[in-house]
Amino acid sequence: GDASAWDVDSPGDVRLADVGGMQQVKDRLEAAFLAPMRNPELRKLYGKSLRGGLLLYGPPGCGKTFIARAVAGELGAGFMSVSLSDILDMYIGTSEKNVHAVFEAARRQAPCVVFLDELDALGAKRSRMHHSGLRNVVNQLLTELDGVNAVRNDGVFVLAATNVPWDVDLALRRPGRLDRTLLVLPPDAPARESILRYHLRERPIESVDLGKIVKITEDFSGADLAHLCESAAEYALLDSARSGTVRMIGTKDLLNAAKQIKPSSESW
Ligand code: ATP
Repeated sequence: GDASAWDVDSPGDVRLADVGGMQQVKDRLEAAFLAPMRNPELRKLYGKSLRGGLLLYGPPGCGKTFIARAVAGELGAGFMSVSLSDILDMYIGTSEKNVHAVFEAARRQAPCVVFLDELDALGAKRSRMHHSGLRNVVNQLLTELDGVNAVRNDGVFVLAATNVPWDVDLALRRPGRLDRTLLVLPPDAPARESILRYHLRERPIESVDLGKIVKITEDFSGADLAHLCESAAEYALLDSARSGTVRMIGTKDLLNAAKQIKPSSESW
């Protein structure tokens, strides 16, 4: 990747309240990142550093990227989403340079949340890269996470994600690095209801019995539910375009949309 590939997004308007479910993850993020950032006096009093890392794991589409973005929104911090598959490069030394460039960009624009997706790509089993090549990348990542002195990473918050935590190098999970592993599961019924509400919040919707939709979406991920709302909106839009009368999104649209979706987390 070239230097411009590691751009920092400005803080968006997603907040933790927009993320359905995941209360334990939210609590952990509050303790590790949000409370220290918002309370400089208490931070000093308790000697808490303004940096850190967490490892999120769980099936795809359940909101790992989304919650990382929400943390950035809460902190008023920049946001970088980088996948290990973008970083890894067959050409000797380039992957390490990429890792360094990502962290340098984050430090320059601190406070910044760095979301490292597909961390398992660093596990030798999953990669086509030579083992020693991967070792170098892991070592570079360790160096960046530690910072040469503690000050350098001030305001850099790292959230890494994987679907296979057991493939993640143990050295990366030691204290001061990605030292907490948090499970992000598919949403339970109350979480599904809030996810549906969130994705319908700015759409014209008649009074719908969301409980019904919640019941038939047992295996749906957050991404599936977002897609469901998008499809339901599409049905209503098409109808309105054809008939020339705008109508609200109704229960029927949501039920039809649900029927068309094959839940992605079913096999997890
Ligand atoms: P992957 O492992 O594939 O990267 P992920 O767990 O990072 O998946 P996201 O990319 O965060 O999943 O989710 C995709 C989209 O689904 C989000 O942009 C958001 O619109 C919606 N979504 C997922 N989970 C939630 C949630 N808990 N609350 C609200 N929206 C959600």
